[in-house]
Amino acid sequence: MKKKLSTTRRNFLKTTAAAGAIGVVLVQPKELLAQTFGSIKIEEPFHGAVLNRRHGKELNDGLKIQVSGQAPLRDRVTVNGTPAQREGTRFTSEITLRQKETQIIAVSQGNYGRHEHRVRVLWDRHSQPRYRFSIDDNSFFLRDIAKKNYASLFDCFYLKNLRELHSKYGARFVLNIYYTTEDGFELPQFPDRYKSEWRDSSDWLKLAFHAHANKPDRPYQYAPAPQLIADLDKVAEQIVRFAGGQTYSPPTVIHWGMVQPTALKPLYERGVRVLSGYFRRQNGIWDVNYLLDDVRSEYLSRHDALMDFDSGIVFSRVDIVCNSTPIKRIIPALEPLAKDPNQAEIMDIFTHEQYFWPFYSNYIPDHFKRLDVAIRWVTEHGYKPVFFHEGFLGGPE
Ligand SMILES: [Zn+2]
Repeated sequence: MKKKLSTTRRNFLKTTAAAGAIGVVLVQPKELLAQTFGSIKIEEPFHGAVLNRRHGKELNDGLKIQVSGQAPLRDRVTVNGTPAQREGTRFTSEITLRQKETQIIAVSQGNYGRHEHRVRVLWDRHSQPRYRFSIDDNSFFLRDIAKKNYASLFDCFYLKNLRELHSKYGARFVLNIYYTTEDGFELPQFPDRYKSEWRDSSDWLKLAFHAHANKPDRPYQYAPAPQLIADLDKVAEQIVRFAGGQTYSPPTVIHWGMVQPTALKPLYERGVRVLSGYFRRQNGIWDVNYLLDDVRSEYLSRHDALMDFDSGIVFSRVDIVCNSTPIKRIIPALEPLAKDPNQAEIMDIFTHEQYFWPFYSNYIPDHFKRLDVAIRWVTEHGYKPVFFHEGFLGGPE
């Protein structure tokens, strides 16, 4: 009786094992296919990744990083010529980045031939913790100064308060501006008599193109690239006229963070090196992401930056929007980012001009206080103020 039972049990186990194997085929046919005919895929690092000392081991002349991915089970895998370690379908290897840009080539060879996957990554060699402060949708302060004809730019409370944050923390601001407030005020009406004040403040205060006007929403999401570039040129010309070349910054945020993919190269040609967006998913759709594909948008939603090699533009994820973050939630929003190696190096801090103005329907009385809390926190945690259009993402190149 006992012997018989154990035979039955053995058979049972055999059957289960077979069913298990069939189960794999039924549940994950893709995986099995990948094991036999499939090609090789580098999963880490991601194509376009921006890597710094937090992502590997710093050597005298390079950054040693791990490369890992998936390849057919029995294939021999090499990474940049060196045999990789295998563990099931997974492979791992180490390489050392020695230049700003490195190509990683993973090759698998086996019964079904040779496959390869190439990715390129950037080494942010001189990387240091840094923050940049960008304010979008600016137009009211320019109208205010032009109307009131102040003796100084800083008689306008908005610029006065920004200057205070600069004096206190060394903060730098890039103000992304419109051509018109659409109630009769346009940039050509702004006087050039403050030029020397702009110049004297240009080490911490820059002006950049943002859009022609606040409305319509998403003005460049479907606009042909020449229209965006024409609007950019019109605003750039005015900034240089009334504030001088030192104050001009190429745009780093386009209104609503949406442009046609064909606009990226023309933007690069206008000096754009970094574009910031939210890279957030709403109702199943990735948005405020410059119409980047889903895979890269998802990557950016949890990383500081990603290079788009086709255009040469690096995308940066906005870390905090002060006008939508109450004071008590500012530090809880920044703290976890500073602990995540993928998001700790660059703080992309952000807000919008309209919320500073008491006449605005959604005026935020403690808006400047919010800026103070955010800037104080990053300052106390060793982040340096930068402009994204200088160096590499604001850091030394
Ligand atoms: Zn905007």
